[in-house]
Formats: sequence, C-alpha cells, structure tokens
Amino acid sequence: MKRAPIMNSYSSTTISIPYCEDCKFCCHGIPTGVCGYHTLVEIGQGTLPPKICQKFVVYRIHKKFINEAASRWWHCPDSNLLTKMTLVKEDFYEILAIAKTRGRCPLLGQDGCLFPDAKPFNCEIFPFYIEEKDFHIASWCKFIDKLDVRTFESPVKTIIEEYEHYSIKNASRYYELLKNLQKKWQWTVHTFRPF
Ligand code: SF4
Ligand code: SF4
Repeated sequence: MKRAPIMNSYSSTTISIPYCEDCKFCCHGIPTGVCGYHTLVEIGQGTLPPKICQKFVVYRIHKKFINEAASRWWHCPDSNLLTKMTLVKEDFYEILAIAKTRGRCPLLGQDGCLFPDAKPFNCEIFPFYIEEKDFHIASWCKFIDKLDVRTFESPVKTIIEEYEHYSIKNASRYYELLKNLQKKWQWTVHTFRPF
C-alpha cells in the first residue's frame, strides 16, 4: 500500500517504507478494508468522488461474532478495535468497509493511494499488525526481507493506541454518520459470517 504524506486526524505518528513508492503490490487483491471514522468524515465532506463512494459496503456483525471479525480483519482481536469504533445496537455492529477484491483497490491511482486521509486503518500500518499482543509482519509484503522489522514496532504500537483513542472518542458520531451516509449512498449491506 503506497504511502503518501499523511494528514489524517487520528495519528501524529507515521511509518514510512521506502519500497512502497514503486511497489503497490498490496493495493491489488485486497482483503476487506475496515474504515474508521476518518473515512466517514472524508466521504461526508465530499472529498471522494461519487464513483468511489458507491464502492463502499457496510458490514453488519452480530456481537457474538465480533471477535472473529476483529481477527479476520486484523483489528487487534486482543483489545478488539471493532468494538470501540461504533455502538452496538440490537446486538449488531455496523461498519463501513472497502470490499475485498481480486483486482486493484478502488482508491488506487497511477501514483499510489488517491485518498490517504481516507484509507483504512490497516493500510496505515500495513504490513504490520498486532495479534495476541505480539507484533507481526504480513508474509506477503514484497520487501519483507529488506525491512528492519523491529524498528517499526514502537511507532506502529503508537499509531494503534492513537487510533484506539480516536475511535472511542468518535464511536457515537461514527454510528450517526454511517446511518446518514447510508441513506445517501445506499451501500450494499453484508452480514458477517465467521465461517
Ligand atoms: S507489499 Fe510491502 S513494500 Fe509493497 S507496497 Fe505493500 S507494504 Fe509496501
Ligand atoms: S486504500 Fe489506498 S493504501 Fe489502502 S489498499 Fe487502497 S490504494 Fe492501497
């Protein structure tokens, strides 16, 4: 996922991988990209063009499956970031996402990510993630062998902490804004299944 100068509102910390500039491998064939409040704000402000806005989807997740969802979508299943992003209503969480695709990510342009302020949280810290309180690197990063992985652990953990605080602070706003934007964009709704 190509990195560009980032002015997102949830983190003052960034990581930079020099190989991303020419690689962009992980912006193709993407898994489901969970979108935080920052993405909703960018959509609500009209930053993204309609043809991109139409490509988002909404996931409904029953609370009994929320840990499986956090694990599948790399959202820190230990602390479960999904439960902090929005409110649970009538036993379901509803979360905005970029649908997984075998092709290129809809936000990918010629020179990399077109809307770095709107990209999913996972893109921000990719290829790193935390699971069972341990720091990991995704094995399919093309330049995994060239990275001094340990130098990234501290900044990635800081970004996660900042994102968690930002998410908790905006959870009720997330719920309301998703409801409002859903009326406008009529996003397809998927129900998460753990199998
Ligand atoms: S595969 Fe690795 S090097 Fe390539 S863009 Fe993604 S994070 Fe960067
Ligand atoms: S949102 Fe941006 S960084 Fe993330 S996969 Fe798409 S193009 Fe790459």
